[in-house]
Amino acid sequence: MTDTTNDAAKAEFLAQLKAFEGQEIDAQVAPDPVNQAMIRHWVEAMGDRNPVYTDPEAAAASAHGEIIAPAVMLQAWPMQGLHGNKREAGDTNPQTQLLNLLETEGFVGVVATNSEQEYLRMLHLGDRITTRSVIHEVSDEKRTGLGIGHFVTTRIDYLTTDGELVGQQLWRLLKFRPGTGKGAAAAPPAAEAPAPKPPRPRPGTTHDNLFFFEGAQEHRLLIQRCTACGALRHPPQPRCDKCGSYDWDTIEASGRGVVYSFVVNHYPQVPAFDYPLPIGLIELEEGTRLVAQIVDCPIESIAVGMPVEVTWLDDDPDQILPAFRPAGSGGGA
Ligand code: ZN
Repeated sequence: MTDTTNDAAKAEFLAQLKAFEGQEIDAQVAPDPVNQAMIRHWVEAMGDRNPVYTDPEAAAASAHGEIIAPAVMLQAWPMQGLHGNKREAGDTNPQTQLLNLLETEGFVGVVATNSEQEYLRMLHLGDRITTRSVIHEVSDEKRTGLGIGHFVTTRIDYLTTDGELVGQQLWRLLKFRPGTGKGAAAAPPAAEAPAPKPPRPRPGTTHDNLFFFEGAQEHRLLIQRCTACGALRHPPQPRCDKCGSYDWDTIEASGRGVVYSFVVNHYPQVPAFDYPLPIGLIELEEGTRLVAQIVDCPIESIAVGMPVEVTWLDDDPDQILPAFRPAGSGGGA
């Protein structure tokens, strides 16, 4: 099984990665000094009402004697934004070269795994922050839940432009090959049985809508009816919006209707379902509408106005649900 050519190539690649250890990354100079506007946006977003960040009088009376920036904003000050982070061809920054090298070998996925910050002093309005960063370590190839990859650890010093060290950070990311993680490892052998599909998420039931799901367990499609004025309504609700009555019972629908509208869901994918997943807004001949899966119909044949009939998704005995198929496609069943 040992492929010496492959092993040699891997060793060569790892040596190239390790050569980046100890290299200094280009400094990032904060585009703006520490300022009240950015602090205000930050604390608004975080919901932090401490007046030491925004109220000059309260800040003056505090132990700090003046407005301070939240310590955890440290990384935000020199952040370069989307365009600043764009890697251009010919970029000589070692970090860019390292990430490009990893990507040429297929390690295109990225996730930040660790961030440890140390604050040496609070920052004040007018401080201008710059960084001094070193690629600390590039790991051997690791197998992780996300995929096979390399951890890249960077040590960052935060300094004022006068050279005063105000904070430090250890920052680790994982560059990985997408599709080589936990789920993927089990998938390729065709002979293996697929993992059992998890059940569909359960609906939230209340005493207003429980009848609908209990009816479905018996293959009965029920519609709520106001016993005062006779109006039908769906989704279920406690009170009639025609006459205001709280009294209701149910009728059993014929199960016939038309596709009033539909969508075909591709993403996001939930393991309990098959995709693409066509979902219809079905108008029943009784007049109410409900949302349900469309089955037994090629997606390209689904059309607004298409006559449909109810059928039952009963693979999961604990949760039987109505679905709709083209009218007459059930073979008289
Ligand atoms: Zn009514």
